[in-house]
Amino acid sequence: MKTFEELESTVRSYSRGWPTVFEKGKGYKIWDTDGKEYIDFFAGAGALNYGHNDDGIQEKMIEYIQGNGILHSLDMGTTSRKTFLETFKETILAPRNLDYKVMFPGPTGTNSVESALKIARKVTGRDTVISFTNAFHGMTIGSLSVTANSFKRHGAGVPLHHSVSMPFDDYVEDQNTIAYLERFLEDRGSGVALPAAIILETVQGEGGINAASMEWLKKVDELCKRWDILLIVDDVQAGCGRTGTFFSFEPAEIDPDIVCLSKSIGGAGLPLALTLIKPEYDQWGPGEHNGTFRGNNLAFIGATEALKFWETDAFSKAIKEKGDVLQKGIEDLVKKYPELDAHHRGRGLMQGIAIGKHQSTDDICAEAFDRGLIVETSGPDDEVIKFLPPLIIDKDGLEQGLAILDESIKTVLG
Ligand code: PMP
Repeated sequence: MKTFEELESTVRSYSRGWPTVFEKGKGYKIWDTDGKEYIDFFAGAGALNYGHNDDGIQEKMIEYIQGNGILHSLDMGTTSRKTFLETFKETILAPRNLDYKVMFPGPTGTNSVESALKIARKVTGRDTVISFTNAFHGMTIGSLSVTANSFKRHGAGVPLHHSVSMPFDDYVEDQNTIAYLERFLEDRGSGVALPAAIILETVQGEGGINAASMEWLKKVDELCKRWDILLIVDDVQAGCGRTGTFFSFEPAEIDPDIVCLSKSIGGAGLPLALTLIKPEYDQWGPGEHNGTFRGNNLAFIGATEALKFWETDAFSKAIKEKGDVLQKGIEDLVKKYPELDAHHRGRGLMQGIAIGKHQSTDDICAEAFDRGLIVETSGPDDEVIKFLPPLIIDKDGLEQGLAILDESIKTVLG
């Protein structure tokens, strides 16, 4: 009999290194089949901002199923769809003076990105899209064509077209990337077509927790307006409060034309994706983009309940405070282990420790796993240990996780 790992394709990724079968999760903790407890600083790659099995979300979903709620209905109107849309407008869009049409593009983040690329091309009649070094936007061919990671692109087998990759803000130090972008856009004689859109993550999650500065975001927004290029913010990982505000771009005071949301928008870790489109660009004909599993009704129930976290400013404030605790913890580790040649990255509860001698990041994560902390690497060379704890974590949980990491580094450095 093959082990369950052998039954799966070789495409299964990093979690192969976690030789464990998990059974239960609550809040920021999960347990394996032997009852061993782990602190989860991974949170389903940012899909569990409200933690595992939040009481309120769980209760509403059980109630819905027990009441024989509609689970699948394609585009038909349902109470869960109606309530979600109304609550999203009331709780998230209206208080931020944002006016977007909400599209359900398919179940996951990459579906949202695909739909954003399609509508930008349709609206502008142009085909190229500018993305940035180390960007990650998903694994389907359109999203992959704006994903600047050669290993991931290699999975598509052949070169991908229709995208141009530019240096991302802070990632390339000492370079004025805005001047570079400007020159590129102004040189209409270069033979390079004016793009339909610029797509960016305000904090690159998979690309190594590279956080764009607010000034840079503002300038990119200005360039887009000047050249009539659509700005797409991919908030699949950085959104839903991960960086401290519901949308990661709020502190930059920009208003992107299209916003991609997924991961934590489902509340309970169920697949749900949204594409937010400025009304003037919502130029789809009915059915021009469709798919069977767009807008799952059980996910709407979880998603609506999760929006309760955003009814006041308290949640946002708490994320920022916990972000400070995490940042201080990381900076202390940086100082304590100068031999790592490390530095801090990120904002809110989306942070990382970039390690100069990055051959040890995998060893540190493996050691941390044995000690009961789930933490993952990111960046083109896996040089960053990335921290994405559920946003509901308390100070104790953060400190326990940091202490495990400290012990793990000490052990690995010997
Ligand atoms: N965009 C970003 C910024 C992401 O981090 C991800 C997932 N890591 C995606 C898009 C793709 O989302 P999904 O895996 O749900 O298709």
